[in-house]
This record gives sequence, C-alpha cells and structure tokens, in this order.
Amino acid sequence: MARVYNFSAGPSMLPMDVLKTAADEMFEYGDSGQSVMEMSHRSKEYQAIIDRAEADLREIMNIPDNYKVLFLQGGGSTQFAMVPLNLMNKNHKADYIITGQWANKAYKEAARYGNARVVASSADKTYSYIPKTKREDFDKDADYVYICMNNTIYGTKFHELPDTGDIPLVADISSCALSEPIDVTKFGLLYAGAQKNIAPAGVTIVIIREDLIGNAMDFTPTMLDYKTHADNGSMFNTPPCYCIYLAGLTFKWIKKMGGLEAIKANNEKKARILYDFLDSSKLFKGTVVPEDRSLMNVPFVTGNEELDAKFVAEAKAAGFVNLKGHRTVGGMRASIYNAMPVEGVEKLVEFMRKFEEENA
Ligand SMILES: *Cc1c(COP(=O)(O)O)cnc(C)c1O
Repeated sequence: MARVYNFSAGPSMLPMDVLKTAADEMFEYGDSGQSVMEMSHRSKEYQAIIDRAEADLREIMNIPDNYKVLFLQGGGSTQFAMVPLNLMNKNHKADYIITGQWANKAYKEAARYGNARVVASSADKTYSYIPKTKREDFDKDADYVYICMNNTIYGTKFHELPDTGDIPLVADISSCALSEPIDVTKFGLLYAGAQKNIAPAGVTIVIIREDLIGNAMDFTPTMLDYKTHADNGSMFNTPPCYCIYLAGLTFKWIKKMGGLEAIKANNEKKARILYDFLDSSKLFKGTVVPEDRSLMNVPFVTGNEELDAKFVAEAKAAGFVNLKGHRTVGGMRASIYNAMPVEGVEKLVEFMRKFEEENA
C-alpha cells in the first residue's frame, strides 16, 4: 500500500486510525452480524452509534445543553438556504460579510428569501484579507449576522469574531470545524459539511441554539426546517448513517489525541512550517495577509503560471497530490486539515525547497 500525501481541500484526508477501524468493522460491527452500512437506522445498534457520536462531539466542542446538534444532508450548500428560511423570519433582514465564494453564495441564496445586506467585503483584494467591522456596522434589526469563518478557497480565517452585540452570529465552519477549540456560546448557529475535516461527504453538522428553532418561513419544505430534525433526533428520515458513524470515529480519534487544544497545537505547528518557508522563499509566496492566515488552507503562488503548473505536476509525481489552487484563483493551495501529519508538511516543504533551487 502506498498512500500519498493528499492536500485536497475536500473531500480530504481522514486519520489512518479512523480508516483502520472502519476497515476492521467493515463486515461486522461489534457482534451485530452486519456492517454499519447495512443496519436499520432504527436499530438499537445504530441508535447507540449516533448517540455516542453526538455525546463525543458535545464533549470535544464543549457544546452547551441549550444547543441542538443535528446531522443533516445536502452539504454546506443546503445550509445557504436553510439558514435564511429558518432564521430570517422576524424582521426579514440579515447582514452578511463577504470573504469569498462560499460567503457570497450564501448571501445570494439569502437574498432570495428576504432582505440580505452586504456589510463588508474583501472582494477588492481577491479576498486576501478579512474585512474589519464594528458593532455599529450591523443593522440592529438584523435577524442574524453571517460569516464564513475559514475561507477554504482563499485561505483566510476570522481569528477575531465580529462584535454583533445581541444579534445571533451564524458561521459556516465547514473547513475549520474541530481544528481548534471554539466558544460555541458566541454563536446562534454553526454548521459544517463533513468532507473537509470530519468524515466523508454526505453529512452536515448543524449546532443551533434552541431559541432559534421553530420560526421557519411558512413555505419552508419540511426537510429544510431545523425543527423537523431537532424534534426527531436527526431521524425524521434515514440519516446519512455511515457518514455519521465515520464522524463518530473521528470524534473518538480527537479525544484520543488529547482534544481540540492538542489538535490546535499540532495544526499550528504544521501551518508554521509552511508559512515560515513561504515567508523566506525566493520563489513561492503566500497570497494572504499574515494576520488573517488560515491554519487549514494555505494558498501560494510562484508568480508565473507555467511554473505553477510545473510545480503541481512534479509534486504529484513525487506523491504530493491535489496541490492545484481552486479553479477560480489559480496557483497552488495546500490544505492541511487535522489528518495531515506534520511529516507530510515537512516533506512538502523539503520538496518545495528543492523545486526552488532547480527553478529560481
Ligand atoms: C466546501 C465548502 C462549502 C460547500 O460544501 P458542499 O458540501 O459542497 O455544499 C461551503 N462552505 C465552505 C466553507 C466550504 O469549504
């Protein structure tokens, strides 16, 4: 078996521990005589799996009791609609900070259902920074303020949250969930598609404060109403059973690694190795202002498109795959989620150093 170092932005690497356990349990989970894929979601065995997953997630993220954890389908993109359909129903207003393509898509979707407003944007500099806001910038009547916490494509992250006062803050944490501790009480709603840092594609985790449930617009499809899922323990219909099981294995792995503080220290170490190299390189340079850099997604360029393409091709041949930047920005991007070992980043930097010597 020859596993590559996979720098994909998503779907992306999963911890070897998780894959091994899944492989061991592939044909028979416990003494159930069947795989998790084949189980009824109404079985005792499966109920225990989803309950354990939720309990472990609550423990890892320190999620207070007045928040519901939902395991949904439809990816991050379905949340672009679910958030306004459920939350933009008091004053029909919401404030959005546009820090890239995902935030912009969320904003456009919200504008279909109510009065969505752009409060700040970093489009002027290709989303290479996080715009600053003050409490006065937000509409006091807004039903929520929306941010994309980590911008997967552009490699920026909100290291400081906007001060929204009493207005609920909603955050897309698809590409930074479980990368470091987060104070859930600062948010009305958090959501993450699993395929970046948690599990295979197919489950989206929503963490929502209870008072925000139950106020969906009248025409909201039953399946897009958070209340439907909150009232039924994410079992109104068949949940993405196997993805939830794998997410549960990731939560166990995080506990074993020492929790989110330990995960954070590891992620900071990896990011430092890469950013330090980029800051000292004569050939490669990072595209994001230092103070807003993401721990998870690191975009960089050589300044020459042909050389970028050559780098991506040679890196692939050397076992460092999926380093091509997003199709809308070009260049390169190394996504270094939780499952990427420090060694993977060290070896990548070694390879970049050699490429620099040969091509500078
Ligand atoms: C990948 C991604 C999405 C889109 O997720 P889908 O599951 O493909 O709909 C949304 N937001 C962020 C921050 C992402 O990284």
